[in-house]
Amino acid sequence: MEKTKGNNIGEIILSSASTSQNRLNLARKYRPIRLEDLIGQSHAVKILNEAFKKDRLAPAYLLSGPRGIGKTSTARIIAKAASCLSKDSDKPCEKCAACKAFSGGNLMDVVEMDGASHTGVDDIRRIIEAVAYRPSVGKRNVYIVDEVHMLSNAAFNALLKTLEEPPAHALFIFATTEIEKLPSTVLSRVQRLELRRLHEAEILESLTSICEKEKIEAAVHSLEQIASAADGSLRDAQTLLEQMLLMSGGKKLDDKILDAFLGTIGADKEVEFLELMARREANKLIEKIGEFHDRGKDLLRLQARLLNWIRQLLIFRSCGSLDVLSEKSPEEYIQKLVTAFAAWSLEDIDRLLELSQDAYARIRQHDFPRFVMETSALRATRIPHTEDISRLIQMIERETPDQKLQPSVEAAPVKPKERARPEVKMERPIAPKEVRPTRKINSTDDFLEELAASRPSLSALVKCAEKTELHFDKVVLTFPHGHFAFKQLGDKLMIRELEKAFSTILSRPVQVVLEENSENASKPQAQPRRKDFIKEAREKAVTDPNVQRAAEILGGKISSVTIEGIKT
Ligand SMILES: [Zn+2]
Repeated sequence: MEKTKGNNIGEIILSSASTSQNRLNLARKYRPIRLEDLIGQSHAVKILNEAFKKDRLAPAYLLSGPRGIGKTSTARIIAKAASCLSKDSDKPCEKCAACKAFSGGNLMDVVEMDGASHTGVDDIRRIIEAVAYRPSVGKRNVYIVDEVHMLSNAAFNALLKTLEEPPAHALFIFATTEIEKLPSTVLSRVQRLELRRLHEAEILESLTSICEKEKIEAAVHSLEQIASAADGSLRDAQTLLEQMLLMSGGKKLDDKILDAFLGTIGADKEVEFLELMARREANKLIEKIGEFHDRGKDLLRLQARLLNWIRQLLIFRSCGSLDVLSEKSPEEYIQKLVTAFAAWSLEDIDRLLELSQDAYARIRQHDFPRFVMETSALRATRIPHTEDISRLIQMIERETPDQKLQPSVEAAPVKPKERARPEVKMERPIAPKEVRPTRKINSTDDFLEELAASRPSLSALVKCAEKTELHFDKVVLTFPHGHFAFKQLGDKLMIRELEKAFSTILSRPVQVVLEENSENASKPQAQPRRKDFIKEAREKAVTDPNVQRAAEILGGKISSVTIEGIKT
């Protein structure tokens, strides 16, 4: 078995010296204590702030979301603010008896219960009985039930009656990681507050600030690696940072220790890997994958992260910015990717995304993730550059013999802004610079003659049309039913080529519309036409000066002519 496995955070914690006196207790020390300390939960914070300002708290709140994002902290923040006796403030006053008792950890009116260990109806019944009494110090009796989905059915039923008619001085705060396990009768009686997984940038910011305060020396790259390993949980990130520091043996984070223990490689290395892919450096890609594998990196996770980078690149190239995304990766990395993939068309990147998605799915099921990743990376380097092909066609047409075909990476402009929307041209083609003397096109025949003279290979296919109609802004070609030329020209790239050629001939931008005649579907003359065409096309292709020129540029020779998959 070749399966790689990322190091589990739990394992690290167990294996490290947790009794060390150097313990910083970062997670506890930097636990949020006010609503404004909560990171990334602005939606919930806004609702709660409003409620406190108007002094209109709901009788029960349900905090839901993945583990380690601050549900329990939020519950305690609400509990403290709800207990405060001060009348003029919507925040804990820190002066009254309730605030002081809460901060000292001995406010009896706030009861915390773990639903996972107190699942029975008796536990709930004790709470319900206590609810009837007025609070002793604070403004309310507050009951925090963590992991509330673990309660038994009987416990839920007992709770429901109280939730239907809660006393004014009672406040319930439930927290759960699995909201779908809660009965709808409970859900309908609570105000739901969804807390979300934190973005890597938010975690990174928080870690950076902790390092500053604690005078911890840590490279940005290392903190990024921790942030990505924490998978949206700030608490995990803080714990990881602390464990890594303990193992580094001081206040300086050791890169090597980090690398040995974390399954992640960090954002900068991920982007570097994709840059290799953009440059099609197959050897280096294979080398890197071997290296990641040997270092015990989690290849499935790495693939998922590569996928996310490619996705962001695709969105950036399509939309011109990442503003549409709720979560953002550091701008510098996106810029790096945009530059690296400047020579890739949107379609190429789209294909790369598909390929990576497929690789991810296969790595998941495969016993040899390394092999899947290698073959996928190699395939990525072989994605044909669609722009290269059209550039080649353009070059051949312009007949500029001294211009050598440059590697597209150098030839393409690298400014991301200019290349943000390469597809716009497709919508309304602008006539490219003409190299042939212009000729007045007065009829369809003129048009077809000119096409035959300027683009013989395209012309051969266009001539298969039964009808050619010239309109001001479009050219409509109607083909016999099921004709292969119709299928061949229907390709997106071919249509683009047709539009370019037609626009040049007509000296105005035109769209190409392909139609298929349904009437003569069963008429037999399609076959002989096809045979003739193949013969004719082969001769034309082999003798075509453009084809010969292409072979010359590419340093090859014409070994066979393929028409719609048929070798002639
Ligand atoms: Zn107070």
